[in-house]
Amino acid sequence: MPKHCTHLDQVKDVAPRTPDGCEECLAMGGDWVHLRLCLSCGHVGCCDNSPNRHATKHFHGTAHPVIRSYEPGEEWGYCYPHELFVEVLAARPGEAAARHYDPPEG
Ligand SMILES: [Zn+2]
Ligand SMILES: [Zn+2]
Ligand SMILES: [Zn+2]
Repeated sequence: MPKHCTHLDQVKDVAPRTPDGCEECLAMGGDWVHLRLCLSCGHVGCCDNSPNRHATKHFHGTAHPVIRSYEPGEEWGYCYPHELFVEVLAARPGEAAARHYDPPEG
């Protein structure tokens, strides 16, 4: 029986707080692979393939449930409490990444 996510209704329009990279990695000089956008507050964090996994840490620290990919051309979302992938979670205005952002050099 498919799980039903009750959090998607709570998704708001958010503006990425750090539109050019992972908030914590930019502050500490960390590396990331891909970026994720928190749909509760606009936090940009790095994915679970990144060394510091700040998107998942953000969920554990805040209980903000839903992220979407912050990579160009990707539309999927993910709910942490339900461990549920959402195939199409269309970006709202201002949410989509204009391009893939790489970590700063060195
Ligand atoms: Zn959910
Ligand atoms: Zn990070
Ligand atoms: Zn958040």
